[in-house]
Amino acid sequence: MHLYPPINYIEPVFRPPSEANSLILQVTNGCSWNRCTFCEMYTQPQKKFKPKAQQEIVEDLKRCAQSLAGVRRVFLADGDAMALSFERLKDILLAIKEYLPTVSRVSSYCLPRNLKNKSVEELAELKRLGLSLLYIGAESGNDQILSKIDKGETFQTTVDALHKIKGAAIKSSVMIINGMGGINYTEQHAFDSARLVNETQPDYLATLVLFFHQGEEDFISAFGDDFVMASQRQLIQEMEQFITNLELEQTIFRSDHASNYLVLKGVLNRDKEKLLSMINSALSLDNHIPLRSESSRGL
Ligand code: SF4
Repeated sequence: MHLYPPINYIEPVFRPPSEANSLILQVTNGCSWNRCTFCEMYTQPQKKFKPKAQQEIVEDLKRCAQSLAGVRRVFLADGDAMALSFERLKDILLAIKEYLPTVSRVSSYCLPRNLKNKSVEELAELKRLGLSLLYIGAESGNDQILSKIDKGETFQTTVDALHKIKGAAIKSSVMIINGMGGINYTEQHAFDSARLVNETQPDYLATLVLFFHQGEEDFISAFGDDFVMASQRQLIQEMEQFITNLELEQTIFRSDHASNYLVLKGVLNRDKEKLLSMINSALSLDNHIPLRSESSRGL
């Protein structure tokens, strides 16, 4: 992919690690919710949520069509492009088809609430027009934690959204944050997050570790006095509990985001024992699994 596509981005722009080779098409700016207390992505004044006008998107696509050859994947940015109406998403997907006909996969972040007013039939229509993968930042399956971090979602709203996505044959990627509840909620977090994933059987599952570029003070004061940040060892113990409780048919699992201390990859449940044995080795005294050092976590 061209490193600098001819798009007038409002920076900063974020994307999932797996979209590194995709054309990032900014169809909205910021995140319509923007209240999760751990999230620092769209806090700058220029990132206030605003949908981009269709004409601007079409102009971006026309310029990309002139200078980029063979674009295969497009990621709709920013934080929740699925906040746009069905009609607007349809127009965007049709424009992508018109100007970038080689595209075979369009993906986006998606908040569960974005799907409340979209039917399975509408989602299936978006799938037919190219939308093939949605990333859901579930963060946790535990309602108490979700409330404390002001996620604005619950176990059930996330499950409902993931069922709709599956009903429309769109692929889903679920993200859980290791350490989201600190040490006092670690068991509930591991257990309920596994329950959420078991109930929805996503195509992809990723974990990342709770981290803060700008300091954790605000997050802790919003969460409450009972938040105690987990140590590296406690984070890995939480992963052990989480993976032990997973009952998946065919989900591709990755904990390879830069924030993770221990890189784990596999297909679950097929590779469950292998992953648990890697975790046990990392936790054992004669640790021979290389853990990322703080300096190499690349945050
Ligand atoms: S919904 Fe996502 S992008 Fe929006 S504030 Fe929460 S974590 Fe950040």
